Amino acid sequence: MKKWKVRYSYLPQQFKNIDHILKRVKKVVQSGDFTLGKELEIFEKKFSSLIGTKYAVGVNSGTDAIKLSLAAIGIKKGDEVITAANTFVATVGGICELGAKPVFVDVLENYCMDADLVEAKITKRTKAILPVHFTGYTPNMSKIMSISKKYKIPVIEDACQGILSSYKKKNSGTWGITGCFSLHPLKNLNVWSDGGVITTNNKKIFEKLRLLRNHGLINRDEFVVTGYNSRLDTLQAAVGNCLIKDVKALTNQRISNANFYDNEFGKIKEIKIPKREKNNRNVFHLYVVFAKKRNQLLKYCLNKGIECKIHYPKELYLQKGLRYLKHKRGDFPITDWQCKNIISFPVDQYLSKKQLTFVVKTVKNFYN
Ligand SMILES: *Cc1c(COP(=O)(O)O)cnc(C)c1O
Repeated sequence: MKKWKVRYSYLPQQFKNIDHILKRVKKVVQSGDFTLGKELEIFEKKFSSLIGTKYAVGVNSGTDAIKLSLAAIGIKKGDEVITAANTFVATVGGICELGAKPVFVDVLENYCMDADLVEAKITKRTKAILPVHFTGYTPNMSKIMSISKKYKIPVIEDACQGILSSYKKKNSGTWGITGCFSLHPLKNLNVWSDGGVITTNNKKIFEKLRLLRNHGLINRDEFVVTGYNSRLDTLQAAVGNCLIKDVKALTNQRISNANFYDNEFGKIKEIKIPKREKNNRNVFHLYVVFAKKRNQLLKYCLNKGIECKIHYPKELYLQKGLRYLKHKRGDFPITDWQCKNIISFPVDQYLSKKQLTFVVKTVKNFYN
């Protein structure tokens, strides 16, 4: 394995001392309380209070958070769901699993859905709008919610990258009928396997989601709808209960790291930083900028021991798995352009000042 000076994954660092977590997990194991149970209840309470919704429902992944949300509002085969062209495959996975069709809109400089392009995509079959808080940035939710109201089309937020991000001081996951979060090991709030959470203020949707995630069961022997096996694993809820108290501080650290990069990269004319809007709290799940000679810069940084990434190098809408949608290159020009020009630098809470400085110095050296 390559020895990185600035690695991308911080998990070995994060989980160096885990005795307190193991202790809590051990208790669950020894109690045999493996499905749903007390740890999950506690976690859901903590999560809803962190985000600021009445309810939270733990499910087994961020993808399922999206799928179950769509199912809860009645999305079915043939329906259309409007979403961003630039996102992780999981966003469309949730849509397609229900037989619905993802309808893409291009993004803005901030990598998120261009709200001004949404209305033109609405048809009789449009049954949901699914904005993605990509990189930890919240798109213009005021505009998206007003379109939602005008056409009576519900909004489901893919907030998998956006825990504690906000627009106009209102948190991601509190705007739509539901907000979908991921607890994947590489997300800002992570657990030791897959996991997801749905937030909502709607009691009916909350109750529906609780049914859907557990086979539609109302008790041991009776089910009222057919659902899924998509409970958040109780052991992972216990892990989440140990880690959730750190989210606010780690978010602040990420923001502070990003501010440092912004200041320094701002001095390099070959690097373009997307406009940072005042009323938008970006939590920097990813730190992505546009770079001249991107491919060479990437190679240079990798050689120097900085594990940069591209999120993502291949346009989602041109992937083989979505060929049936019959898109062609150029359908989403901003997304295309971004694929070729973006680069992601490690921005996590465990980076030292020395590492951040080294990243900046390396990029400066490349352009000199
Ligand atoms: C991670 C992620 C998901 C899905 O999360 P999983 O928990 O891995 O299923 C969905 N959408 C986006 C934008 C993501 O980054």
